[in-house]
Amino acid sequence: MIKNLKTDVLIIGAGPAGLTAALYVARAGKKALVLDGRNPSRMALGYEIENYPGFLSINSQELLNKFLEQASHHGAEILKEDALALALESQPKYVTTKSAFIEAQAVIVATGKPFSKERMIPGEEELTGRGVSYCATCDGPLYRGRDILAYGLSEETTEEVLELDQMGCKVRLVTGRKIKPEYEPELERLKQKGIPLLLNYELKEIKGEKRVEKVVVEKDGQVEEIAVSAVFIFREIPSTALFTKAGLQLDQRQCLVVDRYQRTSLEGVFAAGDVTCGSMQVASAVGEGCVAAMQALAYLRK
Ligand SMILES: Cc1cc2nc3c(=O)[nH]c(=O)nc-3n(C[C@H](O)[C@H](O)[C@H](O)COP(=O)(O)OP(=O)(O)OC[C@H]3O[C@@H](n4cnc5c(N)ncnc54)[C@H](O)[C@@H]3O)c2cc1C
Repeated sequence: MIKNLKTDVLIIGAGPAGLTAALYVARAGKKALVLDGRNPSRMALGYEIENYPGFLSINSQELLNKFLEQASHHGAEILKEDALALALESQPKYVTTKSAFIEAQAVIVATGKPFSKERMIPGEEELTGRGVSYCATCDGPLYRGRDILAYGLSEETTEEVLELDQMGCKVRLVTGRKIKPEYEPELERLKQKGIPLLLNYELKEIKGEKRVEKVVVEKDGQVEEIAVSAVFIFREIPSTALFTKAGLQLDQRQCLVVDRYQRTSLEGVFAAGDVTCGSMQVASAVGEGCVAAMQALAYLRK
């Protein structure tokens, strides 16, 4: 069931840039809703930081927890879901996630290092919305009774695949090549439910004229084509494709173009942190998050 949410500022991303922006918005007495997507902040890698002011050395996960705690303490709300579709040219703006349709007066994009087109599966971008999906709840019911493919390997993938199965889709899972031992229990759960698994297969291409028609998979050099009506991809959402569709201007590195006030090419939409390919540092992400929030607050006052 999709819920309708309203916020003053929607912040897409819960890294240092997004959480700093959320802190400033919430402390100013405005509603700040933060989306924290399936791929975690780069700070979640838990490296040691020696160049963040105020700490001789601090673990990045520990510092991230502090950012989160502080933003939440001042009233920012966190929704652990990806932004799947953006309508940013209108006023208000609308963003869709797996469980929510969000209306926001202003948006701050803080999604981290751009997920480049080069890392997309051939055919993925062209067929997104035409059989390629990132969300079982949103699009699964369209493929009830039909052969579909899911791609990924994580706890979330298991849940989404089981949801697709429960909806009545004939779903098969392609795991990709690197099956880590910690995912064995996930695979066991799927096996027990009778989900066909293509273990150690890689998804090489998605094909179709107007809609998804088939996929090309490969294992140990052997290539195979499988006819399917849809492909559900459960890994990072390709942010660059999402931004282009929303009408945001990207530069040649696929980074969001911003001015010195963190304003993007769209009115009421700001961006901060690695997504703008500035200094790619925690301190600069925090600084840009602060500027973006102050500009968003000024925009709300207009
Ligand atoms: C190994 C390593 C070592 C590093 N060492 C240092 C260091 O010593 N000092 C330093 O200053 N910096 C260091 N960095 C860089 C630093 O981690 C980044 O610059 C910083 O995390 C960028 O912050 P950000 O908020 O822009 O993005 P991130 O921290 O990457 O956060 C991005 C957020 O956006 C969310 N997101 C993405 N897409 C979506 C979507 N579609 N919908 C909803 N949410 C979405 C993600 O889930 C995440 O919450 C290091 C990075 C790495 C990888």
